[in-house]
Amino acid sequence: MASWRCARYRGRVTRRDTVGLCATCAHAKTIVSAKGSTFWLCRSPMVQVGMLPKYPPLPVWKCPGYHASAPE
Ligand code: SF4
Repeated sequence: MASWRCARYRGRVTRRDTVGLCATCAHAKTIVSAKGSTFWLCRSPMVQVGMLPKYPPLPVWKCPGYHASAPE
């Protein structure tokens, strides 16, 4: 998993630290805007019935729709 330096967290930061469960969830998809911002889209069926937000506020530490993706 990629990591980078961040002054705010004073040390190496992984995607898991800033994104939470979505970073390893099979329902997650990243969307990169024209300005370079990355958004995490949730494609869980629970979004369609209003149980989860389409763009969850990050980090997500607890989620009833989490489904671990296959390891890379
Ligand atoms: S189901 Fe939960 S953990 Fe998975 S992408 Fe959606 S919000 Fe993130």
